Amino acid sequence: MKKICIIHAGGTIGMIPSEDGYKPKEGYIETLFEQIKDLKSEKMPEYDFYEMSPLLDSSDMTVNEWNRIGRIISDLYEKYDGFVVLHGTDTMAYTASALSFMLENLDKPVILTGSQIPLCEIRSDGLDNLITSMIIAADGLVREVCLYFGGKLMRGNRATKMSSDGMRAFSSPNCPLLAEAGISISYLPYPPMPKNEGKFNFCHFEDVPIGVLKIFPGIRFPLFEGVMTEKLKGIVLETFGAGNIPSDNGSLLPIIKKAFESGSVVAVCSQCPQGTVSLGIYKTSSALKKAGAVSGYDMTTESAVAKLYYLFSKGYSKEEIKVKMEQNLRGELSN
Ligand code: ASP
Repeated sequence: MKKICIIHAGGTIGMIPSEDGYKPKEGYIETLFEQIKDLKSEKMPEYDFYEMSPLLDSSDMTVNEWNRIGRIISDLYEKYDGFVVLHGTDTMAYTASALSFMLENLDKPVILTGSQIPLCEIRSDGLDNLITSMIIAADGLVREVCLYFGGKLMRGNRATKMSSDGMRAFSSPNCPLLAEAGISISYLPYPPMPKNEGKFNFCHFEDVPIGVLKIFPGIRFPLFEGVMTEKLKGIVLETFGAGNIPSDNGSLLPIIKKAFESGSVVAVCSQCPQGTVSLGIYKTSSALKKAGAVSGYDMTTESAVAKLYYLFSKGYSKEEIKVKMEQNLRGELSN
């Protein structure tokens, strides 16, 4: 009999209504579980339940909570066949990306899920998301950090939240689905993933100062000069299309160059959910490369942020981080 661990971190799935809107309630979801007869079915894996404290709306998640979830999985790693993390949808893709880097040489399923409608309300999508995630975690066919939502199993560091109110809220625009859950759960051809090369290990993330700058038409780069300093160790630039920025008389380049020379790593991602950054295709992007920026290829911003935390936490030099940002470490990019 397979045994899994459910870790409840918070999010809509276990929230209750209050005067100020939905909020998490300690101890509540476990009492709901008592009433879910599917959970008692012999077709379901055995499970233990672990509730974090405090439960959070995922907008309040920080590196601390990523570390806490990672640490729980690491401490209980040998005891269970797989893990389900109940989490708010707003930052689920960030946590999934962070865990994918943090849990080195992972060889068990870690499935993040949640819901758009709380379990306590009618029409909740939480029940299927919970039950199917538990089955996938016990199946053990996909041994990596995944996000399951609305019938789709995605590689965690490729998922992104696309809808604030739809039931199929997440997409994986640059990586095929790992499984689809219809009448049955069909596992799909496995997208390439670098091989595990050692023992499972938990890497604690340092609270590195990271920034994200979204480029928009007419952006006045000099206004950002004071922000893009060595105080930010990693900067993700969300650029247009394949990695383009407004020329603006070249005003961004000296800023990037200065930031880079004084120790920051600047990674270029795209505002387009689908497709890849190709620095150098246009004049407006080759200058970024010359200034020292690295390509994030088809990584999501969520994944690029998490990867910067990871690489800085590992203590790599700036040069090593530049190289590794462009390498495929956990299936997070295809270059
Ligand atoms: N604000 C909620 C959260 O991310 C939304 C959700 O769970 O769907 O925790």
